Amino acid sequence: MVKGNEAGWNFDNSYARLPGMFFTEIEPNPVREPKLIILNESLATSLGLNKDMLKTETGIEVLGGNQIPEGTTGLAQAYAGHQFGNFTMLGDGRALLIGEQITPSGERFDIQLKGSGRTPYSRGGDGRAGLGPMLREYIISEAMHALGVPTTRSLAVVTTGEPVIRETMLTGAIMTRVASSHLRFGTFEYVAKWGTVEELRDLADYAIKRHFPDIESDDNRYLLLLKEVVKRQAALIAKWQLVGFVHGVMNTDNMTISGETIDYGPCAFIDTYDRKTVFSSIDRQGRYSYGNQPRIVGWNLARFAETLIPLLHEDYSEGAKLAQAAILEFSEQYQANWLTGMRGKLGLFNIDEQDESLVNELLQMMENHHADYTNTFRALTFDSLTDTVLFESPEFEQWHELWLARLGRQHESKASSKQLMQDSNPAVIPRNHLVEVALEAAVERADYSVMEELLDMLKNPYAHSEEQVAYTTLPNQSTSPYQTFCGT
Ligand code: AMP
Ligand code: MG
Repeated sequence: MVKGNEAGWNFDNSYARLPGMFFTEIEPNPVREPKLIILNESLATSLGLNKDMLKTETGIEVLGGNQIPEGTTGLAQAYAGHQFGNFTMLGDGRALLIGEQITPSGERFDIQLKGSGRTPYSRGGDGRAGLGPMLREYIISEAMHALGVPTTRSLAVVTTGEPVIRETMLTGAIMTRVASSHLRFGTFEYVAKWGTVEELRDLADYAIKRHFPDIESDDNRYLLLLKEVVKRQAALIAKWQLVGFVHGVMNTDNMTISGETIDYGPCAFIDTYDRKTVFSSIDRQGRYSYGNQPRIVGWNLARFAETLIPLLHEDYSEGAKLAQAAILEFSEQYQANWLTGMRGKLGLFNIDEQDESLVNELLQMMENHHADYTNTFRALTFDSLTDTVLFESPEFEQWHELWLARLGRQHESKASSKQLMQDSNPAVIPRNHLVEVALEAAVERADYSVMEELLDMLKNPYAHSEEQVAYTTLPNQSTSPYQTFCGT
């Protein structure tokens, strides 16, 4: 392990000890004038970093990729993946892993610069990123963290002093991403396609050691690895659905072994409840729509499972059977997690056979009446059931009776039900119109105050404070549907 420095960097790069096929060492790609736009001070502290030192010129040189801290070597990771169903070679085309930070409590986190310049995996790309998309990732990933959804996080965004050419000229920026690892389904797909079984085993052992140390000495550890990944993804996607998050680009290279959300590109939160919701401009078929997300994870898990077959059994068809059985568990696990979460959103502590239909009836009504997903649950929490087409409909009245009766079939008090609902239904989410206003102020006018305030509100989404009320308003209905863009 290297000696720490003034900023508190304390790296131990285990990934660099994997066989060479998994990465390429990268020299810094200096930028003209790195300038700190935002620093996540509490995250810095929890990583054992000195926030004041990070803000100095030397600190910013590191966050801008101009200098690699002493004792570490930057690298770009190799991976492949299925993009919209098609297998392809990818890799970090615009990212640089500067190292694995060991925190004061002994945890290990990848520190990665996104937008840090070209690598051998850049294909045609420039390796760079724009300020708007990087701040967007910062805001949404931090909001997800506060909502209780496993996610990579954002330590900082710096501008580079260089323009980035897209459809228009953008301000160049680099985001520092913090992840419990960057092992992707696509990392396994890469080695399964182009590596040896030994290299595949090296990667699987590495993933186990890093994320599932409890199964390390189990004879069945590769099957258990698969089952653990299934379990984490089932938990993750249930949380996405429960908060109304649409990832937008659920390619297998954007799915982690750790079960953290990664790669905030064309993602967005739903306002109106509609299972067909798609925000990404390139997702014309609706492959990654809100309602399709659980099914897509099932498909992605199948691609991951396939890569492990040679490790599961010496006979391929026996291995395939084991893999198949393991991924079949996904649907049930997902459904159970989702229903447990929905019970919380409706203030229900115990289990009743009718709960699933109670929830589905509500969701169907929300869809029929174009109700806002987050605000409907807020209104139920605070019993303020007026002013919307949904609440004024006779079918809702009937449903409400059923729900009240259901609440009566548990021992917990009304007050504890309400508390459970407050803790399960966020007041604020990063609504698209709010995020856009914050980004416009930041990018067009270098006014970061709007974003800072939004981030502040998103820090405690379940607080239901007075000041949060202003952040619960809906977008103007006359605006055209929200669209997000890839390749940012
Ligand atoms: P994403 O859609 O962000 O998951 O990216 C898919 C692939 O494209 C990954 O291999 C990225 O590293 C790569 N990529 C995205 N943007 C760029 C860029 N501007 N330059 C080089 N590679 C990129
Ligand atoms: Mg990606």
